[in-house]
Amino acid sequence: MSHAASTTRPSRNRSRTTPSASRPALAGHPLAVEPIQAAWGANARAGPGVPTVLAALDTPEARIAVQAGLPEHVYNAWTQPADLGWSRHEAFGTQPCLVCLYWPDRRQPSQHELIADALGQADL
Ligand SMILES: [Zn+2]
Repeated sequence: MSHAASTTRPSRNRSRTTPSASRPALAGHPLAVEPIQAAWGANARAGPGVPTVLAALDTPEARIAVQAGLPEHVYNAWTQPADLGWSRHEAFGTQPCLVCLYWPDRRQPSQHELIADALGQADL
């Protein structure tokens, strides 16, 4: 039997978290999923050193944090308004990792620019 830790950021808009939502889909399967409702690294069972991670993350910082833990395997689910998908990352260093998959193709705004934009202020 294989074990996998799954992690997502808590969401205010969902009554069920993604980790617990995976349980019915895996009923009767030899893979045992341990849903953990915690930020990555806040729980010893969902942090660096875990060999397999099921992820559904929506920020670059969260994806970098998970990949920095160097799990052997990462399985990543994603959604968009009219789309959903998944990716697998099973050979770090030879194939694209979780972070490579979301490498920006254009300059990203700095924290100062994001804050100024959110406040409707001119960038300094
Ligand atoms: Zn990478």
